[in-house]
Amino acid sequence: GLNSLFEEAVSDVNVSFEFFPPKTPKMEETLWNSIKTLEELNPKFVSVTYGAGGSTRERTHNTVKRIVEETSLAPAAHLTCVGATRDEIDEVVREYYQAGVRSIVALRGDPPEGANRYEAHPGGYANAAELVEGIRKIGDFDISVAAYPEKHPDSATLAADLDNLKRKVDAGANRAITQFFFEPDQYFRFLDHCDSYGINVPIVPGILPVTNYATLKNFAATAGASVPKWLGDLFDGLDDKPQTRSLVAATVAGEMVRRLYAGGVRDFHFYTLNRAELTYAICHMLGIRAGKEG
Ligand code: FAD
Repeated sequence: GLNSLFEEAVSDVNVSFEFFPPKTPKMEETLWNSIKTLEELNPKFVSVTYGAGGSTRERTHNTVKRIVEETSLAPAAHLTCVGATRDEIDEVVREYYQAGVRSIVALRGDPPEGANRYEAHPGGYANAAELVEGIRKIGDFDISVAAYPEKHPDSATLAADLDNLKRKVDAGANRAITQFFFEPDQYFRFLDHCDSYGINVPIVPGILPVTNYATLKNFAATAGASVPKWLGDLFDGLDDKPQTRSLVAATVAGEMVRRLYAGGVRDFHFYTLNRAELTYAICHMLGIRAGKEG
């Protein structure tokens, strides 16, 4: 049963948490309450996203710097190639290094809304692989990159996408974090593919605990992730029942990490959406306890 599989989950699990920079003072309060709560679980790192088109540049930096100053956490700053020259991006990377940040999630980024294909900034990094190469020249960073178990929408084939991931790893990435997914088998198949491409860094599953199916549907398509029908069915009729939705959400995410754990996964990255509760519950079920080193 559920319980017996979790019983063996002791302290061999590593987790990391992803946050996005807050827009308003109210959102900032929510975020910081979540950070303080999740800090107890000793994550390996916490990452802060970089808004589409570089729109949150200042807010990302401020959040990352506040994490350095006010917590014991190791922050990872997301950085994209969008809308900036190589020199500008290199400068940001140097500033992070000087501020004590040693971990970066290197991404290409998405085209601006309305544009249907990505165009590199003239004088900018063309893609994530080039960005990784650039960061490597600047300092000794721990670098994560993105991976897509269902392939990136811009890739014609899964093979092309795996070639791209291989380039990012060859350029110096230390790990890949996956786009969220809802079928563990998709992830395990992807691991086999990575293996056959000689991609030999950890491929950490990105876990999205879903509480709001309607919102999810909206952004899943652009993220290159499919949303299975069963998930919609589970949330069907619960629009006005947020507490019930949370219980369903915890069960869905708990079952998914249980299956991943049973398949040998020991590193998990959580898309927290700046909320602590659900992620905390799932980590607890994985055997993680406050105050214990992972
Ligand atoms: P790349 O790895 O550069 O690849 C993008 C596509 O281009 C792939 O299909 C690839 O095959 C193709 N490609 C790249 N180079 C070549 C080449 N030389 N020849 C042919 N094809 C090529 N977005 C944000 O804006 N901010 C964030 O903070 C953010 N965080 C994310 C975190 C994670 C864990 C993940 C999974 C995604 C995140 N994203 C974020 C989304 C990401 O920016 C988009 O998915 C983007 O469209 C692709 O970025 P990438 O780094 O995967 O790109």
